[in-house]
Amino acid sequence: MEKIKMTTPLVEMDGDEMTRVLWQMIKDELILPFVDLKTEYYDLGLLNRNKTQDKVTFDSAYATKKYGVAVKCATITPNRQRMEEYPELTEMWKSPNGTIRAILDGTVFRAPIIINNIKPVVKNWKKPITIARHAYGDVYKSVDLKTEEAGECIMTFKGVSGKETTISVQKVDGPAVFQGAHNKEDSIRSFAKACFSYAIDTKQDLWFSTKDTISKVYDGEFKKVFEEEFENYKDEFEKLGITYFYTLIDDAVARVIRSEGGYIWACKNYDGDVMSDMVSTAFGSLAMMTSVLVAPDGTTEYEAAHGTVTRHYYRYLKGEETSTNPMATIFAWTGAFRKRGELDNLPDLVDYANKLEKACIDTLEDGIMTKDLTGLVEDKSSVRAVNSREFMLEIRQRLEKML
Ligand code: NAP
Ligand code: MG
Repeated sequence: MEKIKMTTPLVEMDGDEMTRVLWQMIKDELILPFVDLKTEYYDLGLLNRNKTQDKVTFDSAYATKKYGVAVKCATITPNRQRMEEYPELTEMWKSPNGTIRAILDGTVFRAPIIINNIKPVVKNWKKPITIARHAYGDVYKSVDLKTEEAGECIMTFKGVSGKETTISVQKVDGPAVFQGAHNKEDSIRSFAKACFSYAIDTKQDLWFSTKDTISKVYDGEFKKVFEEEFENYKDEFEKLGITYFYTLIDDAVARVIRSEGGYIWACKNYDGDVMSDMVSTAFGSLAMMTSVLVAPDGTTEYEAAHGTVTRHYYRYLKGEETSTNPMATIFAWTGAFRKRGELDNLPDLVDYANKLEKACIDTLEDGIMTKDLTGLVEDKSSVRAVNSREFMLEIRQRLEKML
């Protein structure tokens, strides 16, 4: 078979630990035999980030802006424990996802991969629920203060005009903690735009929830900006027969649980972080969740929603067999190929992406799966647990038949 051609490179961001091992396996077994792969490679592995003083992360984000489509492997965000594990680290480098999200100013859309032999915990969920997480600001870009005595915390904004605005946060009678968070109107607007256009792209209803009854100014601003932006998409929504609706987060949670799925749920940064874990767990597992960052200019970065699966990696290093689920990482690649194919008008590349996804689903629906999933299948007699490589070889066989 002649290999499928690409015209524009994908920005390839390699990562850490078990997912780095899977990354190479996916390329060897499922991509390179079929695609004349063109990528611009950035090694976002922790040691290379350290070696380049994190410049590689910034470069990879700028390359994504240039080419329009990236695929990213999971990466370690160093913490204190990691600093001990890797004594050569010169700094506790920031989360690469955080850095990339800040540069692209994008919104993250996460959706479960649904298969017919794993039923969601919530019985009435029939279609995917896509969570749109605002990827800028709030608690993720906040400052914390711990104080030891009675006193008052005051917040002051100094305008470039020289005008100052001051508000008392709280008077306290003893030790206390404080937090200063912010968001930017243009980021909220980008978030709204990304959500409305993604809803149109995927022809799904859009829900948006905040806590504006309590946070009247802060969350109220989110609600207002969404209302304003919706005016620009209203006609298109009507034409497609899809709807936008705003509700309190408490009400949204109740409605989501009672719903059938099949819509996008837009959430503020923290809500999106937490709710996407809940939704993915209820649908099956984090390893069955796709994740894509969409910037207001349409730039996209595809990734897995889970981390580097450290526990499996240490077993792998000891030579033990690991059964790590590569689905989310494979779907990061297929998402990126499909998008690249659409942008460059390469129907063969789009077709390959669709078939690879189908081969993955077929393998799982034939009962061949990694160990994280076997426990979720009701009819245990129909499943066979395999390791990561065996799983990929099964996918490859099915893909070869289709192509
Ligand atoms: P994790 O890597 O997602 O793994 C947590 C546990 O979830 C695993 O131990 C495993 O459970 C299960 N799991 C996750 N993905 C799986 C898969 N593909 N197949 C099978 N099981 C899977 O989270 P973590 O251990 O909290 O974080 C590890 C590192 O990842 C951290 O350094 C963190 O900074 C980083 N991280 C990166 C990203 C990202 O780059 N997007 C996101 C989150 C975390 P069992 O051990 O029970 O099998
Ligand atoms: Mg989370």
